Amino acid sequence: YRRMVLASRPVDKPDTTHFRLEEVGMPGVAAGQVLVRNRYLSIDPYMVGRMYTTQSYAAAQALGETMVGETAGHVIASQHPDFQIGDAVVGALGWQEYGVSDGTNLRRVDEQRAPLSAYLGMLGMTGVTAWYGINRICRPVEGDTVLVSAAAGAVGGVAVQLAKAKGCKVIGIAGGEQKCHYVTRVLGANACIDYRPLASKEALTEEIFKHAVDGVDAFFDNVNGWVLDAAFPAMSLGGRIALCGMIGRYGNRSMQLLSHHFLLLSRLTAQGFIVWDHVGEWGRAVDELSDLMDGGLLRSEETRAFGIEAAPHACLGLLAGKNVGKQLVQFY
Ligand code: NDP
Repeated sequence: YRRMVLASRPVDKPDTTHFRLEEVGMPGVAAGQVLVRNRYLSIDPYMVGRMYTTQSYAAAQALGETMVGETAGHVIASQHPDFQIGDAVVGALGWQEYGVSDGTNLRRVDEQRAPLSAYLGMLGMTGVTAWYGINRICRPVEGDTVLVSAAAGAVGGVAVQLAKAKGCKVIGIAGGEQKCHYVTRVLGANACIDYRPLASKEALTEEIFKHAVDGVDAFFDNVNGWVLDAAFPAMSLGGRIALCGMIGRYGNRSMQLLSHHFLLLSRLTAQGFIVWDHVGEWGRAVDELSDLMDGGLLRSEETRAFGIEAAPHACLGLLAGKNVGKQLVQFY
């Protein structure tokens, strides 16, 4: 079967030559192990950070080893008491078509409740990240104005819908007219700012104020850098900022924050979080997300690439904004 390894580290911008596709033999299954045929691979921005030795909260990806990543698939052989052939499972088996697990971090999921791929998106890390940032940090109440960056992306798209479901006025920030159209028409945001044609951070601040004349009560930020900097002056007194991601800094770009004095002036609270630190809340989050999905209040949007050979391109495509909703690779 095939697997993708990190062949070399980027010095500056990452590209597909940093990956290598390898053919390896099928592994045996020892006592206490299961063999999984992976159907979907989750593509996440942290993977770009891991290609470097610095700048990420995740440890660096080892060279020559299978790229790390979350997968969903089915058990095809088992010597483990908790798993049977045919079980649908989600785990971190990496960028490979098959994977062996000893059951650690492998969880059975219910395909009757939701399609398998949803457990990597809305009902997986993506959905829980949005849920945590909105419910535990942004804490918006009905009538609040909520700003979400990378609003057409996987986490951002869920955050928009969760804030909307709470009766908030939601303003998205996304790249391009089409995405903004999607954020307002499909996800239901009240407005969406296309940041790409804007020449400066001041212009973005002005755009935010146009839609949030009384300021932004809560900001769910996936981008950091100049987008975060542009939002500081537009925050209302006592506003909350969930620092979820910094995709604006990935690909080895650094960006200075110049307006953080508004943290003090406007008595803001900005809190960073990593969803894996809150596994105790996952069950509740997934239940709530699943109820909202059943009630038609949450749409699970996906962009799929096909075949493991497409994974590097899909991964780097996140930096270019090629995806709408959750980026997945489907193996078969
Ligand atoms: P997305 O689906 O949002 O994909 C990334 C999107 O970011 C792109 O589609 C693109 O949209 C936008 N983007 C890329 N480069 C830039 C840039 N330079 N400036 C502005 N926007 C950019 O990915 P996820 O939903 O998976 O992740 C969103 C964020 O959440 C990431 O920063 C990620 O690291 C973070 N995250 C954090 C977690 C946590 O525990 N804290 C857990 C999971 C994710 P556009 O076309 O609109 O520019």
